[in-house]
Amino acid sequence: MDGVEVTEAEREADGRLTVWARIILPAMCPECGTVSGNVHQYVTASPRDVRACGQDVSFFLVKRRMECAEEDCPRETFTEWVPQVPPRCTITRRLLEHAGAEVADRGITPAEAARDAGISWPSAHGAFAQAADRVLDDSPAPVAHLGIDEHRRGRPRWRKDTDTGETVQLADRWHVCFYDLDANQGLLGQVEGRTADDAAYWLAGATPAWRDAVEVVAIDMCTIFLSAVRRMLPHAQVAADLFHVVQLAVKTTGDVRRRAIREKYGRRGKAGDPGYGIKSLLNRNLENLSPANFEKIIETLDASAEGQQVAIAWIAKEKLRDALKLRARLTGSTPCERDVRGRLFLFYDWCAQHDDIPELVTLARTISRWEDEVVTAVLTGVTNAWASQCSLR
Ligand SMILES: [Zn+2]
Repeated sequence: MDGVEVTEAEREADGRLTVWARIILPAMCPECGTVSGNVHQYVTASPRDVRACGQDVSFFLVKRRMECAEEDCPRETFTEWVPQVPPRCTITRRLLEHAGAEVADRGITPAEAARDAGISWPSAHGAFAQAADRVLDDSPAPVAHLGIDEHRRGRPRWRKDTDTGETVQLADRWHVCFYDLDANQGLLGQVEGRTADDAAYWLAGATPAWRDAVEVVAIDMCTIFLSAVRRMLPHAQVAADLFHVVQLAVKTTGDVRRRAIREKYGRRGKAGDPGYGIKSLLNRNLENLSPANFEKIIETLDASAEGQQVAIAWIAKEKLRDALKLRARLTGSTPCERDVRGRLFLFYDWCAQHDDIPELVTLARTISRWEDEVVTAVLTGVTNAWASQCSLR
């Protein structure tokens, strides 16, 4: 520690280290700047300091209270100090910096950092805020592929307005996150709420040059984000997150199965029903099914009229996936837009042939509304998959 000299160090019976130190900098009057050598008295401070070899340290810093050597100085006495332990500070700078870095770099909570360092939550949080401020001053580098996703965080908080009696929301549990999908900048920003204005607000804070550099934005099929992107990044292409597209088709198959069972038995499905055993198999992708499992699905579904409806929905899901499978990451070659739209047409055509299944009509309508964004996702390969994993952590 600059300006400090250890005068005594002793290991206590419990392993704790006791360290006594003194200040070796010239004592300068804060009022007139005169260096003084007249000791008025000694005071001992015991600021909390970092651990040594994993052990807590009792740190005693002996400070001199000096008389100012300048006769005309209004300040009669002053106490010497060092930058690591400023006046009235009960925590050393280096301990605060350590706690702030633990939160900023290692991702632990301020509460944990406070407990580890033996300091209060406000101190740990303040140290983290200082560490974060240094980084937040840097504006993010240009991003060609931007991901926008919603993220659930914490609990919503409410307060009753004492005047009107209305309940006011203080904190929204939903946040909008912005990710750099190419480079290693990771999470670029996070704003509370999940309205179009919340998302647009963050984008509006970026420089026009940064906004212009964005080429493709990946979002789930959510009109809120779409309108924010259209407003703030009108030149950018929008890619629908294919994970969510497949998830919607899987959900549709489940919806058809549940409705068919309800229509047949007047209740929910349960173990022992003919179709129940293949429930989870239906969520799998065709290429991940063993021949035996595939046969089981076909046999079970073929055995009844409601099973056939489920089979049709399941085939629709696979037809939709046929279009998504054209992306370069899977085929090794750049897809052609006509092929993608051609396969989507086969999916629509299949749904149209079975328009007696209302869930399929809804699915086809949703996909057709988002067709351009789905095609962009297949052609560019831009996806939020990685970002979603980050959020799930
Ligand atoms: Zn003075």
